Amino acid sequence: MSSAACIFCKIIKGDIPSLKIFENDKVFAFLDIQPLSRGHALVIPKYHGAKLTDIPDDSLTEILPVAKKIASATGAVDYNILQNNGRPAHQVVDHVHFHVIPKPNETEGLGIKWPAQ
Ligand code: 5GP
Repeated sequence: MSSAACIFCKIIKGDIPSLKIFENDKVFAFLDIQPLSRGHALVIPKYHGAKLTDIPDDSLTEILPVAKKIASATGAVDYNILQNNGRPAHQVVDHVHFHVIPKPNETEGLGIKWPAQ
């Protein structure tokens, strides 16, 4: 399922360019356009849904291992994994996404090695 109006569905399809990090049949990962730190990435299900509760389990179970690989590939010792649901929870894009945000202040130089395979 995808939504024609969804910006992240357009990124998955390649209709909007992105800096892709990883892709398989269920998951897509790319760099955030307004990174909070170097290497700030987004991991999303290819299945379109606004909130976590909209996404089938078989897509969700694929996401955390990818987020883990990306966090590891940044070389960051410390990092956030964040996922927002709804405007009061600071969600701006209505396609489920997990932020992977390395904490560069805690790390001596981020040795980012893309792609995170
Ligand atoms: P939210 O607040 O919804 O959890 O975060 C949405 C994130 O998507 C933001 O960090 C924002 O910078 C990112 N974003 C929004 N539009 C685009 C885009 O067109 N390309 C990329 N790479 N990131 C985007």
